[in-house]
Amino acid sequence: MARIGITTTVPVEIILAAGHVPVDLNNIFITSPEAGHMVETAEEAGYPRNICGWIKGLYAVMVNKELNDSFGGIDKVIAVTQGDCSNTHALMETYQLAGIETIPFAYPFDRDYDLLKLQMEKLMNVLGTNWEAVYNVKRELDKLRLRVAEIDRRTWEDNTVSGFHNHLYQVSCSDFNSDTAAFTADVEQFLQQTAEAAEYADELRLGFIGVPPIFTDLYPYMETMGARVVYNEVQRQFAMPYFTDDIVEQYRMYTYPYGVFNRIKDVEAEIERRNLDGLIHYVQSFCFRQIEDMILREKLDIPILTIEGDKPGKVDARTKLRIEGFLEMLR
Ligand code: SF4
Repeated sequence: MARIGITTTVPVEIILAAGHVPVDLNNIFITSPEAGHMVETAEEAGYPRNICGWIKGLYAVMVNKELNDSFGGIDKVIAVTQGDCSNTHALMETYQLAGIETIPFAYPFDRDYDLLKLQMEKLMNVLGTNWEAVYNVKRELDKLRLRVAEIDRRTWEDNTVSGFHNHLYQVSCSDFNSDTAAFTADVEQFLQQTAEAAEYADELRLGFIGVPPIFTDLYPYMETMGARVVYNEVQRQFAMPYFTDDIVEQYRMYTYPYGVFNRIKDVEAEIERRNLDGLIHYVQSFCFRQIEDMILREKLDIPILTIEGDKPGKVDARTKLRIEGFLEMLR
């Protein structure tokens, strides 16, 4: 049993079917009290200042032996060479320089079914599993994904779940916190807690689009201002609430790796369904995805505030002021 590091959502069913443990390095980075220090570690090693903080964190998590040991170590990393991040190639090269084994995986940009299936088969061969085992895992995970989708539904329909918990449970579906049984129990306990919870009475309903925030207190901050996030776009995609029997189709329906226009259709549908007042578009400093802001603004017919984060930590004063002004405008 190996511990397989991932830097974004990949077909986790394959890792589990092969008897390995998936570990999302983003979650290790951002939940660590040492997250700020990790960014500095990467810069000290030579990472340029004008490279995204997530990439630096992903580098430090793997390369710093003490940090790596503190969460049980990683044997290999799956490198998504297409469909995730323009910096992944160089990140993987610096991993290789440090002697870390990487396994390539690519989402075909045009969502081609056969190419995606081929990529999944290659990953299955490298990790040592087959379709039968993968489908057995998928059927089990689908039940869990259904329960996480219930948390999402309670967020926007019953109004009993906070924006942060909506974010947390869905973003955790990239690796199910490396322990599917414990995560299932956690989800069930949370659902029990919220079954009788009082409804939120926020004035404003927001959507959060873009990569998950590097800020640690964004959701509670907005709730103190009378606005709750009832839609987390990319996090919901990580949770894959599609419920198709075909696992290749499941990873085709996942919008994040296939360009902004597929994402826009999903966002438009959820703006309508969840009755949103406005969107927060989060962009990461030095991320190529910032360019997509101009497309999102042109295509989406709803007020949008674009905010930018750089290093891990609390929301800065300037961003707080801009959020405050946006909420006032929505009111
Ligand atoms: S925020 Fe952008 S640059 Fe940073 S890891 Fe994600 S996709 Fe890459």
